[in-house]
Amino acid sequence: MTRQAPKQMEPDSAVYKTLLESTKAIPWKIDWATMKFAYVGPQIEALLGWAPESWVSVEDWAMRIHAEDREGVVNFCVAQSKAGVDHEADYRAITRDGEHVWIRDVVHVVRKPDGEVEALIGFMFDITERKKNEARLAELQKELEALSYRDGLTNVANRRMFDSALEVEWANAVRNRTPLSLFMIDIDYFKQYNDHYGHVEGDKALQLVANTLRAQMRRPTDICARYGGEEFVMLIPGFTEEQAERFAERLRTSVNDLAIAHAKSSVQEHMTISVGVCTMTPDQGSEGKTLLRIADSALYRAKKHGRNRIQSAS
Ligand code: GH3
Ligand code: MG
Ligand code: MG
Repeated sequence: MTRQAPKQMEPDSAVYKTLLESTKAIPWKIDWATMKFAYVGPQIEALLGWAPESWVSVEDWAMRIHAEDREGVVNFCVAQSKAGVDHEADYRAITRDGEHVWIRDVVHVVRKPDGEVEALIGFMFDITERKKNEARLAELQKELEALSYRDGLTNVANRRMFDSALEVEWANAVRNRTPLSLFMIDIDYFKQYNDHYGHVEGDKALQLVANTLRAQMRRPTDICARYGGEEFVMLIPGFTEEQAERFAERLRTSVNDLAIAHAKSSVQEHMTISVGVCTMTPDQGSEGKTLLRIADSALYRAKKHGRNRIQSAS
């Protein structure tokens, strides 16, 4: 069986022209010696509104780049071209009616046999849609990041956020030799509340308590987080021990004042919290977890001594 060699495509410039002008990418050529356009695909008019004849020199190209992108892109392309390096650049092109289109310009440097640059040829691609998607993706990424640090039910910070915040605030306190206060907050007899009023009401109560606790914060460095089921934790830098105790007392009263009916509580006929508080000026080499552990054991004592009360670690 004889195999026929594929027929070589004749260098038929009409064929090339048809191919070039029927693609979505816009071909162009700039003569290096004159810095003038030797060719630009007619598709450019549909995309940018500027007729092919209006693309005379590189100046026209430069002036049709968004002012914020212009200098950087022009400098980059000139430097790469002079060095004889193929390159690509993304920029916003200005359309005839004053809008912007994102362009990716892919440039090939054509050299003479002696190595000198003869011309630049390239393709412009419309990447507006891609850029929009990229921006949306970045937005989603940010939203996701924010969400992953928030408790879904109460909208305060979650434990993960709290753990990072504790590390940061602890390091600050060590460096500045300033005190840091941690408040462990636990709703009293919440299991009974759930059993009696149901889980949906339980969730609502958690939201109310979270909102009230959060409302007591004063500075952007203060943190309020949901630590577990019906446990919250607050972290506040700069308090003296007395200030921290007064603050803990304010937390307790603020929840008390919500007057959420709790028929099954053994302390009051409405919902209450117990608070364990610890204030420390940490030393080098100590750990933030220490603060957490001490506040937690203070909370345990508050529970043991009758609930609906605050207990200081000292
Ligand atoms: P104490 O006064 O000793 O703190 O008693 P308590 O009943 O509050 O403590 P316990 O740890 O025995 O019960 C906590 C309850 O919190 C158990 C569970 O029913 C409830 N709980 C935990 N997470 C959620 C939640 O997301 N939603 C609701 N509705 N309830 C929850
Ligand atoms: Mg608990
Ligand atoms: Mg509890």
